[in-house]
Amino acid sequence: VAPPANVSQAQYVGRFAPSPTGPLHFGSLVAALASYVDARHYRGQWLVRIEDLDPPREQVGASKAILGCLEAHHLFWDDEVLLQSQRLDAYADKLEELRLRGLVYPCYCTRKDLVDFNGPYPGICRHRPFRDKPHALRLLTSDLPSTENALPIRASFSDELLGHYHCPQTLGDFILKRKDGLFAYQFAVVVDDIFQGVTHVIRGMDLIDSTPSQIFLFERLSARSPYFGHIPVALNDQQQKLSKQHGALPLISNRSADNLRAALHFLNHPPPPEFTKATQKEILQWAIEHWDRKKIPRENAIPDYR
Ligand code: GLU
Repeated sequence: VAPPANVSQAQYVGRFAPSPTGPLHFGSLVAALASYVDARHYRGQWLVRIEDLDPPREQVGASKAILGCLEAHHLFWDDEVLLQSQRLDAYADKLEELRLRGLVYPCYCTRKDLVDFNGPYPGICRHRPFRDKPHALRLLTSDLPSTENALPIRASFSDELLGHYHCPQTLGDFILKRKDGLFAYQFAVVVDDIFQGVTHVIRGMDLIDSTPSQIFLFERLSARSPYFGHIPVALNDQQQKLSKQHGALPLISNRSADNLRAALHFLNHPPPPEFTKATQKEILQWAIEHWDRKKIPRENAIPDYR
């Protein structure tokens, strides 16, 4: 298969990066499968990273269950699984690097201070003197006027699947480290995509409005930003993203061939009828051969599990 113009075969590294807040459900399978099949179609590597940065939100046993479930679906990854919980020193080093360049500032705002704002952080703490009290650390951007040293976040980017995308609102001076001492998702995800040499991020549309801010951070860290492609998200009957909070059911591993067929159907790549009794391996092989980015739907949808 010839890779798209921007891909040379040796240089595709994709990844799936679940947070271990619960077992995989149909929506997460769609994301895992799309990133896997896209990577394998272009003869790329596919990595798995467990985003276990937030112990209070973690569910005991979820990481193991997720990996077991990927294996049951024959979604086998390359290299070792990277755990974000093992990467705290790397995040601290990168944060220090940004701080020494004057790109990080402490933020003392409470949730209450910010209730009246929706949208990017209004920059209240940009010029406050340092105080010895709990604070978050924010990245300096120049979405707001009057900052030297800062660069603006570009709100538009070219999505591999959707084409030109303009984000209605960027994240502005986003948090790198939270007041409770935990590193923020937006920061760790970029540091790790750089570390793992990720070149292609295929993930759910729910994350698309973070992408311009993440691209900004890649550039600030002098790294080449990956290509991003966003796939539709599976919704429940109330049009909410399938998620554990909204009661999505865990996948049943011994129905993995059926699950794969349903997920491919959702991605508008339904295997032909003779695949009704096929194994996971056969279904995946068919998908890798027949994968066509142009066929992927562009709208979130309620799946029709068949
Ligand atoms: N860990 C994030 C999530 O589960 C996904 C990160 C990403 O794909 O960039 O929503």
